[in-house]
Amino acid sequence: MTVGAMKFKAVLLFGEPGCGKGTQGAVLGGFPHVRHLAMGDIFRAMDKESDIGQEFLSYSTKGLLVPDELTVRVWRSHVDGLVSGGHLDPSHHTLLLDGIPRTIEQVGLMKAHIDVVRILHLVIRDRDVLVGRLKGRALKGNRPDDADEGVIRARLRVYDESTAPVLSSFDASVVVEINADQSPFAVLRDIAGHMASCLSDTI
Ligand code: ADP
Repeated sequence: MTVGAMKFKAVLLFGEPGCGKGTQGAVLGGFPHVRHLAMGDIFRAMDKESDIGQEFLSYSTKGLLVPDELTVRVWRSHVDGLVSGGHLDPSHHTLLLDGIPRTIEQVGLMKAHIDVVRILHLVIRDRDVLVGRLKGRALKGNRPDDADEGVIRARLRVYDESTAPVLSSFDASVVVEINADQSPFAVLRDIAGHMASCLSDTI
């Protein structure tokens, strides 16, 4: 099979900005047979002077989503690079996807590339907790989209309008809710239980 046609088994880390997907993904990506891929990280690692890098910034600094086809193309080309470099093998690895698919259109486009075996929905019901977490993250890192409360609120609105519908487009039996308003260790414990059951045949 050619690299670009390979299909992957995938677990989705799903939830609003600030729910802790990145923290959990970074840990779980260190497990054998798991590869954590965060769409935001893939975009941020691009050359900021390139056309695509500039296009990404024109959306992300306003809290808006990058267009669907471009996003999936960038994701696939990143994945193909990992496969060609020998870092990723669909017969060996399950993808732990963070931040993609993020719209109903992306669900359709990603069907050619992934089979979703589980969606881990990290839930924090209090929006002020999310905003507080994102502002805290801005103090530590290089995320201009976390520094401005207006941009943070815009991202939460985009989540409600475009991303939340992704959840109901999947069969409910695939989705599990995780209480993300607990310590990162407790969230990890809850996620690990689900990973153990859905990846029992590979790990
Ligand atoms: P957060 O989850 O905190 O919003 P991310 O790092 O996942 O942060 O995304 C940062 C930005 O990258 C988004 O606001 C958006 O502009 C862009 N982005 C990331 N993933 C996608 C996606 N699947 N589709 C479109 N744009 C995306």
